[in-house]
Amino acid sequence: MLRSLIDSYLFPRVCHICGRKLVDNERYVCLHCTELLAHTNFEPKADTPLFQRYARQHDIAAATALFHYTTASRLLVHRAKYHHHTALAKYLGELMAYEYADTDFLNDIDFIVPVPLHWIRKFWRGYNQSEMLCQGIATVTGRNIDTKHLVRVHNNQSQTTLNHEERRKHKQGLFALLQDHQWNGKHILLVDDVYTTGATIDACIDTIRNNSNNVTISIYTLTYAGLTNLR
Ligand SMILES: [Zn+2]
Repeated sequence: MLRSLIDSYLFPRVCHICGRKLVDNERYVCLHCTELLAHTNFEPKADTPLFQRYARQHDIAAATALFHYTTASRLLVHRAKYHHHTALAKYLGELMAYEYADTDFLNDIDFIVPVPLHWIRKFWRGYNQSEMLCQGIATVTGRNIDTKHLVRVHNNQSQTTLNHEERRKHKQGLFALLQDHQWNGKHILLVDDVYTTGATIDACIDTIRNNSNNVTISIYTLTYAGLTNLR
């Protein structure tokens, strides 16, 4: 009781989008801002821009994103990523799981795998926000998380000046899949916070394909910032 009073004094429960004080049944985001979050309503295995984008280049089972990348969702991503709001990130992961709770999308996942940060970046940030999303998804689905085997071997800088092809080349060799993985014949769900060009996940998939056999891959990002025309 005392602890929760102290907590509410030191850490007042406010909406992560508008800053307004939350009422009892609201968590992290007020009801008003919740309505501002634009769900993609993508069906993971349907003919959506996101699924097509990956299916054109890879053998994937499904791909989807929870929210479109709008002012509201961008704020959430930013706060989850840069402000040590790990509980917010886990909560967003829970929302990702609940979104498809009445479908078979997450039913046969063996390992939930975050797109890894380089260890130096993770050290300075203190956590990998995509790993927090995975924890939220795991809380709801009971699936296992694997953060050990897919690793980032280079700490690349921002490549906003590169075009798509250059970015893709640049990302080849960014990741490694450690030899003692148990992924052969399994279904993994790759999780990231934002889909923009897809090049990072391309590199993850290439790495997995080159170092494993018969892995089924699905993709789930918190937000989708892609254009609706394919590229
Ligand atoms: Zn709000």
